[in-house]
Amino acid sequence: MPLTDAQFERYARHLILDEVGEAGQEKLMAARVLVVGAGGLGSPLLLYLAAAGVGTLGVVDDDTVDLSNLQRQIIHPTARIGALKVESAAAAIAAINPEVRVETHALRLGTTNAADLIADYDLVADGSDNFATRYLLNDLCYAVGRPLVAAALSPFDGQLATFKAHLGPPHPCYRCLFRDPPPPDLVPRCETAGILGAVAGVIGTLQATEVLKEILGLGEGLSGSLLMYDALRASFHKIKLPRDPDCPTCGTG
Ligand SMILES: [Zn+2]
Repeated sequence: MPLTDAQFERYARHLILDEVGEAGQEKLMAARVLVVGAGGLGSPLLLYLAAAGVGTLGVVDDDTVDLSNLQRQIIHPTARIGALKVESAAAAIAAINPEVRVETHALRLGTTNAADLIADYDLVADGSDNFATRYLLNDLCYAVGRPLVAAALSPFDGQLATFKAHLGPPHPCYRCLFRDPPPPDLVPRCETAGILGAVAGVIGTLQATEVLKEILGLGEGLSGSLLMYDALRASFHKIKLPRDPDCPTCGTG
């Protein structure tokens, strides 16, 4: 399908780039991305992916918009307090780019529903705020063979990595780095811990950039690397993530 005149104008700043161009824009428009969590990370992630023209965005979240979310979850306006976050996000996406198809999934991912959902998309971006979902997505994306762009937040810092262990060595998975989830009582969740809201914006925007790079096959991805941001030091740091041959998920045993 050739681009329409309106699409040429909307995506002009992509089309002018040799690295994107019309072929790249068509890749974005054909892509199906599943975003898990329409919160602090999901907000900038969804907004930038929608603006970029990613054709189909799946949004998973079973929560409703609360007044205390608005300090960082910038996809949700005050007027939509009480609405399902997936519906609020869909409305914001439609306002930015009505050409994007939004598939809302107002549910909590679990072992019974996640694999089929993931298989229906090309790529998964994890913007969830809990370890159960993070490990579930890691294991299922590996099993189903989908790239996973994962991010996590602390009050003043964040981490970002891409996992494509299904492609084989040297790509690691999340469990190669952190084999087991920490005990639940040791981990304050984002909903109870504090966070400087803009830190979620930094990491969610980096996550959107990595998703777009994966779709376009552009530059160096973050598979095999962990990018860390420290807001108080105003610094970024990148470390190598080796694949663990004994990993319970992707190891050969
Ligand atoms: Zn692994």
